Amino acid sequence: MTNTASTPATRSLAALEARLKQDLELLELPAKPWVPSRTHHDAPVRDVVVIGAGMCGLAATAKLVLTGIDNVVAYDAASAGLEGPWVTFARMETLRSPKSLHGPALGLPQLTFRAWFTAQWGNEAWQALDKIPKNQWMDYLVWYRNVLNLPVRNNVRMTRIEAVDDLIAIDLEGAETGRVLTRHLVLATGRSGLGGFAIPDFLQGIDRAYWAHSADEIDFAALKGKRVAVIGAGASSMDNAATALEAGAGSVDMLIRRKAMPRINKMTGIGSQGVVHGMHQLPDAWKWKFVDYTASTQTPPPRSSTLRVSRHPNARFFLDCGIKAVTQEEDLLIHTTQGDMRYDYLIAATGFTNTFTGRPEFASLAPHIRSWADGRYTPEMGPARTAMLEAPDLGPAFEFRERTPGACPMLSRIHCFNDAAMLTHGKVSGDIPAVSAGADRLVRGITASLFAGDVATHFASLIAYDVPELQGDEWTDSTPLLKQENAL
Ligand SMILES: Cc1cc2nc3c(=O)[nH]c(=O)nc-3n(C[C@H](O)[C@H](O)[C@H](O)COP(=O)(O)OP(=O)(O)OC[C@H]3O[C@@H](n4cnc5c(N)ncnc54)[C@H](O)[C@@H]3O)c2cc1C
Repeated sequence: MTNTASTPATRSLAALEARLKQDLELLELPAKPWVPSRTHHDAPVRDVVVIGAGMCGLAATAKLVLTGIDNVVAYDAASAGLEGPWVTFARMETLRSPKSLHGPALGLPQLTFRAWFTAQWGNEAWQALDKIPKNQWMDYLVWYRNVLNLPVRNNVRMTRIEAVDDLIAIDLEGAETGRVLTRHLVLATGRSGLGGFAIPDFLQGIDRAYWAHSADEIDFAALKGKRVAVIGAGASSMDNAATALEAGAGSVDMLIRRKAMPRINKMTGIGSQGVVHGMHQLPDAWKWKFVDYTASTQTPPPRSSTLRVSRHPNARFFLDCGIKAVTQEEDLLIHTTQGDMRYDYLIAATGFTNTFTGRPEFASLAPHIRSWADGRYTPEMGPARTAMLEAPDLGPAFEFRERTPGACPMLSRIHCFNDAAMLTHGKVSGDIPAVSAGADRLVRGITASLFAGDVATHFASLIAYDVPELQGDEWTDSTPLLKQENAL
């Protein structure tokens, strides 16, 4: 349990934690452990290792533990409390999502952000709260992890994945080193999924002193008085532009390729339990249609983030302003469809890519991972978008599939529980709204696989089980009487 200091807020938090404990007891959670333990040449074997202890990794780990799969551990390269984007490169003031979302609460009311918030600051403060400040969301995730006592190890980076017989070996660096064996591996590695930052070609070869990706660590104080360009019209472009302006940038220009700002948040608009549970069951052509349409209409930046930029007189918005080339001189000369422009610094809010080839930890898997380009996509589904073609073609429990059957069988036990799963599974492993549904789907699949993998042991347990429920003194056998009666 967290927060033992005796203030009214922490006393209420303690009361919430007590209610949560009672709810878990009422629901018989965590379920009793049921997976037979395994070793490999005397080395211990984990049932599941989760890589990443951001929101998805925490939800997955919690669901595993609650399901009685307790031989599990989550590793995160970041320090405790710094996982994910929230207090590192997320530069918005608040979440975009409405405050009422139950996010990773896994159906437990006392585990929601709202319960955590009102326990400490009360209902009035809840009513007054507009959107959740991003740092407070991180505080909530830290509490979530602590109150459930989740087995998370920080400052540990997974660097390599290899098959060892029917197991998966992962190599670790940092606070824990060496090799860990596991039966299942969950990659809860975040927005960049299996790839990294999407960097436009025109920035290749330009000195990093002149530009950054929006998710890089950026020294905004050094931009004081400087001419800054920000590429993109999404949430991150606004958040980075606003941060630069607030840090005293001389001017900030938003260079936006589109002729008009996207204004309607389409997928959020049709959000429902139907979308959450139905999308992944749809025929592939329908999945493609939804994702393609959303990609073409694009998600607008939040109104508050846009106003946070436009309220500065030294912010300018240039639409229909595609970048043709960038030349590095004593400053940056940017050749755009609207003419040439000069800047001291450029921030590329160009998002993330899911090409698995760039990350060393996935190098052994990358050539074997089947993507939508490997036959799942057919031209009649709609236009061929590279980012969608590169999406992994996943099975029902987020497991990878092999490009060539038999070439890398461990892929069927490696689960892609991150943003890259969206085309196959819908938005259940990247954003806040449906992460509990995603964790549930993931853990049902792992549960079935672990059970099937140990079926002989479970059957042997069935045979060996000999605790009588009836003692033998509850009835008498009337057959002899019947025989006597028949004999008369
Ligand atoms: C700036 C920003 C704002 C967002 N705002 C919202 C919002 O308002 N509402 C919403 O619904 N969604 C939002 N999202 C989307 C989504 O909710 C977040 O990206 C969220 O962090 C996803 O959680 P995650 O667990 O998948 O990834 P992350 O939180 O990014 O966690 C992934 C973790 O994996 C670790 N990791 C990666 N590779 C390794 C490795 N090899 N070894 C060990 N650890 C590793 C990382 O250190 C990281 O902590 C936002 C995303 C961003 C980027």
